[in-house]
Amino acid sequence: MSFDVIIRNGEVIDGTGSPKSAKDIGIKGDAIAAVGDLSGAQAGRMIDASGQVVTPGFIDMHDHFDQTVLLYPKAQSALAQGITTAVTGQCGFSPAPLDKHYTACFWEWNWWDRVQPRKYYQEAVGDLDKVKTAAREVDGLDVNWATFGEWLNRVEEAKPGLNIVPLVGHGTVRTAVIGSDYRRTATSDEIALMKRYVEQAMDEGAGGISNGMDYAPNAYSSVEESCEVIAAAVRKGGFFSSHWRRTGLREGFGNAGLIQGIKEAIDIAKKTGARLEVAHLSPGYLVSPNPTPKLAACAAEETLALLDEALKDGVDLSFDVIPSHLSGGVIHTRHIAAALTPWLKEAGSLEQFGRNLTAPDLRQEISDYVMSGKWYGLNPILQPGWAGTIVVGDTGAAEFAGKSIADIARSTGRHPLDALMDVISKDPHATRAEPSGGTDEVKRIFFKHPLAMVGIDTFLVDHTAGSKVPPYYLPNPNTFSGMARFVKLYALGLLGLEEGIRRVTGFPAERLGLKDRGVIAEGKKADLVVFRPEAVVDKSTSEEPRQYPEGFSWVFVNGQAAMEDGRLTLSGNGRVLRR
Ligand SMILES: [Zn+2]
Repeated sequence: MSFDVIIRNGEVIDGTGSPKSAKDIGIKGDAIAAVGDLSGAQAGRMIDASGQVVTPGFIDMHDHFDQTVLLYPKAQSALAQGITTAVTGQCGFSPAPLDKHYTACFWEWNWWDRVQPRKYYQEAVGDLDKVKTAAREVDGLDVNWATFGEWLNRVEEAKPGLNIVPLVGHGTVRTAVIGSDYRRTATSDEIALMKRYVEQAMDEGAGGISNGMDYAPNAYSSVEESCEVIAAAVRKGGFFSSHWRRTGLREGFGNAGLIQGIKEAIDIAKKTGARLEVAHLSPGYLVSPNPTPKLAACAAEETLALLDEALKDGVDLSFDVIPSHLSGGVIHTRHIAAALTPWLKEAGSLEQFGRNLTAPDLRQEISDYVMSGKWYGLNPILQPGWAGTIVVGDTGAAEFAGKSIADIARSTGRHPLDALMDVISKDPHATRAEPSGGTDEVKRIFFKHPLAMVGIDTFLVDHTAGSKVPPYYLPNPNTFSGMARFVKLYALGLLGLEEGIRRVTGFPAERLGLKDRGVIAEGKKADLVVFRPEAVVDKSTSEEPRQYPEGFSWVFVNGQAAMEDGRLTLSGNGRVLRR
């Protein structure tokens, strides 16, 4: 017998949850051709995996890789942590279909102000022609697709480093139909047109649909509209991933009734018969002031109880969890000053913002706006304990280092918001310290549930990515380390390696209907990861998230090495997995 590659002497964890066992794996072309004792066999390339495990490539259930795949097709940040397949088009955002408008989805961080300049809240929908000009001038990107199928062709031409399962976003479809006049319910004609867009996307290869109920324009969708549009995908065999309503519109007071958002997603699944993925699960209850560990655990358990009840009622659901407890969200800021982004942007630089904050009338203006709960980024009405959650990290002003804004306010006798502005004024470069290391009890409770999977909820980038304009966004730490963190803390540290690996391989493949991926067996596609579980280290920090993890040595995508002995090969061997 002869193979292109043999991975020998490894402990194979096959993705089904079965105990690991010593086996060799033979690869021919893009597939696994044999699993077992291959000691007599020939191969073009022999890889010695002694002391390491060999698992299926990891499937990331929830991310926004499609948003930057044309900018970073090599997919370094994902491959370096073993991700070989990504479920994209999440939270209601997909790059297609497009008509005359475009929905902003964070990555436009260097140029959205050219499309829709705003001081406080980014206007979510902009003119497609302006977007085309800005994307070309700033990012060198040609936004030259309209249909979902054309978009998928563009991704294939870019030779992505990993496999992509594309979902179509309800928000994006709503933008194509309603454009900038989206702050209202849709008419029946508009809903009919949205359904046609979704059906076409499904026919062109979408794996299903997502929604994003915290984001304009999707947040304005009624349950009736959601059901009609999502049912159009379900009838064609599509999967439904829901970014449930958590904050609602991220303006003003928002929606504090978190758990209602999960109920809404379940309600839509019941009415449409959808296979539901509850995206990036977090507790459905707010506890204020900052909860004790027991109260936080209680909120998590009560949230799971709601899902269990839906399961009993026959809803076909699963959910995903972001593995890092470092600041959530797709993008990340490291400076304390970013808590006051509108005024930082207006100042144009950190230094100027620090100087501006010596003006008492500007401080009063900021205070009036923030204390009335109008600013989503720092809302004392929704989050009365906010000052205890902002801890000063690196700073030239040594008296503040390691202290929370609440501590500083207490010791100086200042109002917490004044204390925050004092810190920024004294050292505009002061960073925000985030808790590091250790597990998070809420995540442990979620991951223990048998239907939990992993979504890292970030973009594809490389180690140079970051916005050049205030508030100087960086990729979220999960971008480089989410899976590494899951392997270390929740696979090894909680579920056991075999079950933990199943949650990022066999189980998601089953939920997605990917019949030829997710497990190691003869005939399956050769998406594989070789690594030393005990050596896995997630190196991303809040202050420098752009650090690749350690411990992974080989990654195969469709039979080709994407990582060789710890080095990324940039082989670009991923595929669009059209349904
Ligand atoms: Zn989301």
